[in-house]
Amino acid sequence: MSLAIVLSRAQVGVEAPAVTVECHLANGLPALTLVGLPEGAVRESKDRVRSAILNSGLEYPARRITLNLAPADLPKDGGRFDLAIALGLLAASGQLPAHALQDVECLGELALSGAIRPIQGVLPAALAARAESHTLIVPAANAEEACLASGLRVIAVNHLLELVAHFNGRTPIVPYESSGLLHLSKPYPDLSEVQGQTAAKRALLVAAAGAHNLLFSGPPGTGKTLLASRLPGLLPPLDEHEALEVAAIQSVASQSPLTSWPQRPFRQPHHSASGAALVGGGSRPQPGEITLAHHGVLFLDELPEFDRKVLEVLREPLESGHIVIARARDRVRFPARFQLVAAMNPCPCGYLGEPSGRCRCSTEQIQRYRNKLSGPLLDRIDLHLTVAREATALNPPPHIGDDTASAAALVAQARDRQQRRQGCANAFLDLPGLRKHCSLSSADENWLETACERLTLSLRAAHRLLKVARTLADLEQVDAIGRSHLAEALQYRPSSN
Ligand SMILES: [Zn+2]
Repeated sequence: MSLAIVLSRAQVGVEAPAVTVECHLANGLPALTLVGLPEGAVRESKDRVRSAILNSGLEYPARRITLNLAPADLPKDGGRFDLAIALGLLAASGQLPAHALQDVECLGELALSGAIRPIQGVLPAALAARAESHTLIVPAANAEEACLASGLRVIAVNHLLELVAHFNGRTPIVPYESSGLLHLSKPYPDLSEVQGQTAAKRALLVAAAGAHNLLFSGPPGTGKTLLASRLPGLLPPLDEHEALEVAAIQSVASQSPLTSWPQRPFRQPHHSASGAALVGGGSRPQPGEITLAHHGVLFLDELPEFDRKVLEVLREPLESGHIVIARARDRVRFPARFQLVAAMNPCPCGYLGEPSGRCRCSTEQIQRYRNKLSGPLLDRIDLHLTVAREATALNPPPHIGDDTASAAALVAQARDRQQRRQGCANAFLDLPGLRKHCSLSSADENWLETACERLTLSLRAAHRLLKVARTLADLEQVDAIGRSHLAEALQYRPSSN
């Protein structure tokens, strides 16, 4: 047999489209031709494959070799096809039984010695291989990750020679059994570690309970970052589908294998982050912070310091839950359903309103600082809260919802009500949903109308307020939105509209 076909998978965004490696040997002067327009890295792979085969004591065919990686229009960079190419050469030259490679997919980069090195993005490939009922050959270092696709038959290998012995029946490799190590997720930081700040903790609870975006405004050193980092722990546990999505993103973005699973992400990019770092990009598009925060929390500290153009890009994923990166050659869609927590100082120096009188900012400077945030972005933030500095000696007795476990229990109950009632969290209620599930008594409707007139609230702001009131009622496990819920929701409106 002088033709062999080996299955593998490329990586495009968080997808793993199938790639067929065809290897054909013909008579003629020894040479190797790669077709299928592979990028530079694949060209390098032919040198690695040659060395790996020779250094493993195997025979490198001294014939005219044609390698075709199909389909041609996929980006095929990285060493992930080394192993497939090597197996193709060995099968085409009769060093492996040809039938051995049926229903098998393989991934892995070769070292010159023939050792097999880990690659990025194994999990998306594992999920795709499972869907085809194929066996997946992976580098041993990626085996745990591949096993997250439960039910998939995983063959873990360290060296090319192990595979040759396996396929020739000399030393069959037993399918890899997960050690379950990845399932030990790290505990989230606990809410009880944040001293005082009762109102801010309450806002955090409400944000978690209704999936509302949240903006903290307050001077430096008031624990805004500490508070925000507690949000992932308050959210309901990831279901299996969500957990796999999160892990697949980490798998394509990280150089190192996964370490914990399942875990809601918490991402905190610096305000100097570029647009590409925040939303994703690059010539071969990589996920940005908003995608790394998928199903978790994106914390933007010092929000007005971010590039305004970058902030504007956030509007699309805040609405749709994904981002499309367009490049000359292709468009890549990354998931980006994150909960936004933002923080800002009250003025450029941060000390406006402090009794110390340290703030020297002019009214104009303060206005310019606040104007950096656009209305449309602020419109997507349901909860606005001013965080004040507290005396450190103040340490009120703990009450329910003051630690992560009890707060998460309240959130779970409230989310459960929302799912049963409307199939989504309150923050995602559309206008018909709002009308249907946020009705008020006529007395409360009048009260709200008066309040909106007095405070000159826009219709949009009134809708935001209703969604928050809905969440407050859900936290109390009551069906009807009452006056107390409306009154509390009014406290979370932004100071300027
Ligand atoms: Zn100031």
